[in-house]
Amino acid sequence: MFSKIPLHEIKFVLLDMDGTLLDKYFDDYFWEHLVPEKYAEKNDITFGKAKECLFKKYKHHEGTLNWTDIDFWSRELNLDIPALKEQIRHMIEVHPHVEDFLKMLRRHKKKVFLVTNAHYKVLALKFKKTEIGKYFDDTITSCEMGYPKEMIEFWEKAEKRLGFDKEKTLFIDDTEEILRTAREFGIKYILYKAKASSKIKPKLSKDFLHIFDFRELME
Ligand SMILES: [Mg+2]
Repeated sequence: MFSKIPLHEIKFVLLDMDGTLLDKYFDDYFWEHLVPEKYAEKNDITFGKAKECLFKKYKHHEGTLNWTDIDFWSRELNLDIPALKEQIRHMIEVHPHVEDFLKMLRRHKKKVFLVTNAHYKVLALKFKKTEIGKYFDDTITSCEMGYPKEMIEFWEKAEKRLGFDKEKTLFIDDTEEILRTAREFGIKYILYKAKASSKIKPKLSKDFLHIFDFRELME
């Protein structure tokens, strides 16, 4: 790992799912294309108008528990969001070298946790479609914690539940706001995952060390 992070000092590895381990293209396509398309049909408006209307709603709920709750969106938009996700599940992809990285963590006997804002129904769908689920000692969702990862309360509850030592913990996520909260909480080793989506040019961070690819963390 280990020009960027000293492996021997790390006992716990906390990993985000969407954009970090999985290609965010699935989620972007879902919210920016499929949902507007269905919303336009349902309300008999143009795709452009639907997008405009939806993006306002997305913005309003960004960084909150509502944003992560697909049942909320089903009610709010009067669409069956879980069914729509299921419809495009063939588009769910794992980023390159993720499984090799997870295997390496297991070999080194690290405690590996998935910490995600994803709804448990989305998590189940993504675990069914990919092989990543088997590598984690435990998984927690913001829905279960009662707070999104952007809030310090999430981390207080996560620490109690998972029992990690923040001085010996590495956390990787593709959302800077979440990394800032984790840093404020006191997680010692933090990495920003650039290249969240395979279809979008990677964005760099001014505040955090970054990786483009998990190969950079392999010995
Ligand atoms: Mg993410």
